[in-house]
Amino acid sequence: MGRSSNGATAVLLGLFLVLASSGCSGRGAAPPAHVDRVQLSLSLEPETHILDGAAKLEVAGSIPDTLYLVLHRDLKVRALAVTDVQGANLQRVGEGAAIADRLKRLGETVEKDSDVEHLALYALSLPAPRDSLEFELSYRGVVYDSVRIPSFSRMQIADETSGLIDSRGAFLTPWTGYYPRLAGDASLARFTTTVEVPPEWAAIAEGNIIERGERTVTFDSAHPLDGTYLVAGPYVVTSRQAGDVEVSTYFYHGSESLAPRYLAATAGYVTRYSDLFGPYAFERFSVVENWFPTGYGMPSYTLLGSQVIRLPFIIGTSLGHEVCHNWWGNGVLVDYKSGNWCEGLTVYCADYLYKTDKGPEAARSYRMNTLRGYADYVVRGDENDMALRDFTERTTPGTRTIGYGKAMMVFHMLHKRVGDEKFWEGLRTLYGQRKFTVTAWSDIFGIFSRIAGESFGWYERQWIDRAGAPQLVLQHPEVTRRGEENIVEFDLSQVQEGDPYRLDIPVRVTTVEGDTIERTLRDVRGRMYHARIQVPGTPDRLEVDPGFDVFRVLAPE
Ligand SMILES: [Zn+2]
Repeated sequence: MGRSSNGATAVLLGLFLVLASSGCSGRGAAPPAHVDRVQLSLSLEPETHILDGAAKLEVAGSIPDTLYLVLHRDLKVRALAVTDVQGANLQRVGEGAAIADRLKRLGETVEKDSDVEHLALYALSLPAPRDSLEFELSYRGVVYDSVRIPSFSRMQIADETSGLIDSRGAFLTPWTGYYPRLAGDASLARFTTTVEVPPEWAAIAEGNIIERGERTVTFDSAHPLDGTYLVAGPYVVTSRQAGDVEVSTYFYHGSESLAPRYLAATAGYVTRYSDLFGPYAFERFSVVENWFPTGYGMPSYTLLGSQVIRLPFIIGTSLGHEVCHNWWGNGVLVDYKSGNWCEGLTVYCADYLYKTDKGPEAARSYRMNTLRGYADYVVRGDENDMALRDFTERTTPGTRTIGYGKAMMVFHMLHKRVGDEKFWEGLRTLYGQRKFTVTAWSDIFGIFSRIAGESFGWYERQWIDRAGAPQLVLQHPEVTRRGEENIVEFDLSQVQEGDPYRLDIPVRVTTVEGDTIERTLRDVRGRMYHARIQVPGTPDRLEVDPGFDVFRVLAPE
């Protein structure tokens, strides 16, 4: 009886689904309402913190008769014009932390209610549902949220503000609400932003400059973005060419002397990464100074704090990292739902690559410190471990050792396994095929599986889905003489909790005669692995993973 009643349930469910989708007047297959194109025309009045603007939005998809919009609460809507629609009406339905639950129901990610303190929610009512819509909103008001020092500041993370227009400079982000957004809409849109600034000021947004006036400039994002940042201030702009790319610095008076070194280094990075992965996607790249601490990389520019740009090591480290994000993160986009891979890959192709430029010893120390950080903060520290699948951004030193450190080692181990040629070919393919496309870890491993001719499904499950790391113990080393040669035998055990990992483990034997024999034990798996290495000469010293090439738990010193 049980079986037949299950069958009946299945049929009923199927019938219900058919009814539900045919009830949507034939538009069941259309994607939900989303903004495709945003055209902004903005004017900044820094002395009074005022933004005066107009935003034209083009909405596509299955548009219900009520759309919900998010805008900064202090911006007063002055006019609404809806193209070819009579009787549309805009109403403010709530503001501040009180709208948090409603925003969540509309599909927004709201971590703390206070994160939406500065926002207001509007309902745009239409006479009937539609499949396309164009409207323009003009608004004016004060945007000013004073800068605070965040709780997690030792990693030089940015000071916090939801956005502000100040006489020292303006900083407006997609979360500021300086232009209207559709609540819950996480799709990508193309942005064109025209900004008018006071005399002696310059403004910057993502993408290319398509028009320049005396006090206005128009940016076109050139590619779809998940939002647009706008930064402006009393900048001295200096530029030079790097091939077809215009490289610029937007520095305050008093910092101009730093410009030549920044321009030369930036041009070098743009050229290097274009050669390594494929052409840079924009016509320009800018290094922009900010009066409060930030370390942001947006598509086509980076925003660095005034103190930061003066640190002597930034040009050789963070600057290249931010340029590299134009390939990984701002070029190939991250599918945050399945784990942020872009920090690990950017660290590997920037911070770590610059160590390999200095030589193998510098690269080895970097890997060793990466493993140490993980051991100190997570394994023996008080921070929780997490799978890379769950990493979105660093919030603590421990999350950094995972999302940046472990992820960088995942690329390093992949590099060692597939070899130089296929590794760089894989990254070129990744950029070529996935540029401006939301991309998951599985897309990356899919590309490497095809190029290397082996499936990396196990690798992804082991390193991305699973928290933790293997812990290796070397046991029972033994030497047996056989003619001219010696056989070195030993056991490698994996003593971590949970299943054993599948690993490629380099080992090194040094002989009394002064020779070094290096081998990689491929596909070591199982709790206990018995290894056997033939050594010409008399073995003196045996080392397992002497170069810290395997992401693992280091034993306490
Ligand atoms: Zn980064």
